[in-house]
Amino acid sequence: MRFSPNVDVLKPSATLGFAARARALRAEGKSIMDLSAGEPAFRTPDFAAQAGIRAIEEGRTKYPPTPGIPELRSAIASYLAETTAHAPDDPGRIMVSAGVKQALFNCVYCLFGPEDEVLIPTPAWPSYETIVALAGATPVAVPTSWDTAFRVSVAELEGRRSDRTRGLIINSPSNPTGAVYSTELLSELAAWCGRHGVWLMSDEIYRRLSYTGVAAPSIYDVPDRPEEVILLDGVSKAFAMTGWRIGFADGPPDVIRKAADLQSQTTSAAAAPSQYAAAAALGQRAAREAAIGAFVEILDRNRRIGFELLSRVPALDVREPEAGMYLFARLRDGRPSAPVAEGLLEAGVACLPGEPFGSPGYLRFNFAVDEEVLSEGLARVARYLESA
Ligand code: PMP
Ligand code: GLU
Repeated sequence: MRFSPNVDVLKPSATLGFAARARALRAEGKSIMDLSAGEPAFRTPDFAAQAGIRAIEEGRTKYPPTPGIPELRSAIASYLAETTAHAPDDPGRIMVSAGVKQALFNCVYCLFGPEDEVLIPTPAWPSYETIVALAGATPVAVPTSWDTAFRVSVAELEGRRSDRTRGLIINSPSNPTGAVYSTELLSELAAWCGRHGVWLMSDEIYRRLSYTGVAAPSIYDVPDRPEEVILLDGVSKAFAMTGWRIGFADGPPDVIRKAADLQSQTTSAAAAPSQYAAAAALGQRAAREAAIGAFVEILDRNRRIGFELLSRVPALDVREPEAGMYLFARLRDGRPSAPVAEGLLEAGVACLPGEPFGSPGYLRFNFAVDEEVLSEGLARVARYLESA
């Protein structure tokens, strides 16, 4: 089959790919503990799900406005204003899409193209690289290390900057490392981007999954930001709403309008009932905070259990993540992790190798699963690594 050069750079999502393999093996009757894709194995909070159901029952099922229903755009603007120190609180800056993935794609596609380089601190969620490449731009990895807890520094960015650098994509708390950037570091990064005319895209999808008692800092906690900042977030993780497919971008209105024009030619808009459910999830403040609080409590417990189990595995180095939903472990003997992840899958546990994240030699485990799945999965990891 001959495909167009448009998709020469296309790599399928490794995270979704592993999850699909785990599902297929389970369908064949194999016992698989799935710690692969970053998907909370919990139910969407009832108050949000009911809002989606009501929208269907009441016939609010027509084409929504391309950038999102007004209720949701307002709820997002208020949510950001309520949970960060310096949010613009302007629904006109918001585009709702089918997940952060589509919001990010739309913005990247509208801002970057051939000639442009986009910096991506690694280890990083694999889709950043492919999305940038699909836009025709060049993704440039900025490797960060275990020794600095995977927090990128201005010096590391400076080392990869060229006169073609037009963007920087950051993700704090990070998938896969759990690294959290302080407000000071975010300020430094924003100032550096401002000095060099670089767009800063801040993917904050894990911001509320923090185990320190306070939410992880947002780029909207930085008071003096350049105009060229786009915040991305959604309901997939904090509300266990991956399948509803709702994410958003908050950025300068010109960019948001252009990104929404692109959306008008691809998906038209995110699904209407899902938008009503997300408007409830983000807009009902008391219910929202109670749901996130309860979820974080479960995850925190899992995080401790998972950390405890992995710390006892001699073949691995692991740190307790402050945020997010992943345990990120280093293979002590420095061997590549892809064959290890394959072996683990054979041994009945699905996790992700570091390679697609730009970090061979590491393994990622999603701990947002039922406690029994986590404990049994990590017990299988321990047994496998003892013998392999
Ligand atoms: N950003 C990061 C860092 C992620 O891990 C994910 C995976 N869910 C996404 C964005 C995409 O999320 P969604 O499209 O479900 O909003
Ligand atoms: N983001 C999730 C992960 O890192 C899964 C789905 C996706 O890649 O969009 O596993």
